[in-house]
Amino acid sequence: MYELLKQPKPPSSSMISETLGISIRTYRRWFRALKDGNMNIITPPKSMGVKPLNNSSMEELSTFNKFSIIPVIQKYNNYCFANKMDSGISHLFRICNLVNIHPDQLVTGEALNESKKTFIIFEERFRDMFPDITTTERYRKALRRFVKSNNVIIPERDKVLYGGTDSKPVYTRVFLKLNEVKDVAKIINEKCGLNYMYYFILHHEIFARPHTLHGWIPNFHFKSVDVDKKQFEFAECSIFENKQNKQYDKIMLDPIAIKVAKMVNGKKIINEEYKEFERVMSRSLREAYEQIGKIHKGTKYNVGHDGWMWQNKPLYSIRHSATVHWLYRTGFDAMLVSKMGWEKADTLMTHYARIDVANIMQKGVCYYCRPPMTSTDLPLFCSAPHALAYMNGART
Ligand SMILES: [Zn+2]
Repeated sequence: MYELLKQPKPPSSSMISETLGISIRTYRRWFRALKDGNMNIITPPKSMGVKPLNNSSMEELSTFNKFSIIPVIQKYNNYCFANKMDSGISHLFRICNLVNIHPDQLVTGEALNESKKTFIIFEERFRDMFPDITTTERYRKALRRFVKSNNVIIPERDKVLYGGTDSKPVYTRVFLKLNEVKDVAKIINEKCGLNYMYYFILHHEIFARPHTLHGWIPNFHFKSVDVDKKQFEFAECSIFENKQNKQYDKIMLDPIAIKVAKMVNGKKIINEEYKEFERVMSRSLREAYEQIGKIHKGTKYNVGHDGWMWQNKPLYSIRHSATVHWLYRTGFDAMLVSKMGWEKADTLMTHYARIDVANIMQKGVCYYCRPPMTSTDLPLFCSAPHALAYMNGART
């Protein structure tokens, strides 16, 4: 037991008791004795509950604990610890477990071919089990790291165990048209009441993360700007995003949202717990999307199809839609829009609203100062002040 506990990153207590065939009580007694004897040991971490995917795998691959104490895995764990790398052992476990292959086979003999074959089989079975999961990137990277740490050379442009990042589906066309924003707001009011409608209206202007906006106490300031000698009111606020640990300043233009902001300023919008709110709001949004024809009831959409986003991420779809609106309001200025909620403009473009080629030909159009001959899905503007003026009914 001392041998196991003196490692820099020892296995968990339950793993140790399993390895040595002792009860957890005996383990605790021995552990205390070692500590009392001033032995140089490290307290093991709590064991993680990583569920196997395949129950008929061989004994050593049947549970995460048993897998973790296979010598080649322990060696790898220490290697990662020493190199400050994320080991991804839970991913590795699921690969070996699902394919029913011992990790030794991935790093000895025909190691490279064996690993590649394993990953191909894993991906096939994994995708069958979880058709909604968009990428197996973390599994691929865990296997890559493990194989490489055992001095197996992976060719630069390997087609199976490549090192790059998977491109994720982009839902360019997931947005609500102006009348659809109003329709969804109305439906949410009917189903869940005023506060939920307020939440929706504000969310569709300031596109914070749902969880952040739920906990947020509105801190709006109302300002005005001159456009062609007329004054128009808009609102500013700031939101702290925990996930990015960053404060974002936001602007609201929609006159209805500004009315709502005045009513809710200084008060939390939703009183229900987040889980409850999320459940009710997601269900109601999904129904609203069905009513306005974005998705059809009973149809299951595949990843990559716009319907998938509306159906599976109803709350995030609001963030998505609002982002597209803001791109249209600012003449597709992704740099500017990303300042209101993304760490990098790249993230906004890859995950939310890649501007498609058609938009190139729309640049320069402004519904306020240079109206187009044929109308577009969303009104387009050269700048936010012109969007604000137009939304308040002004035209040149
Ligand atoms: Zn303009």
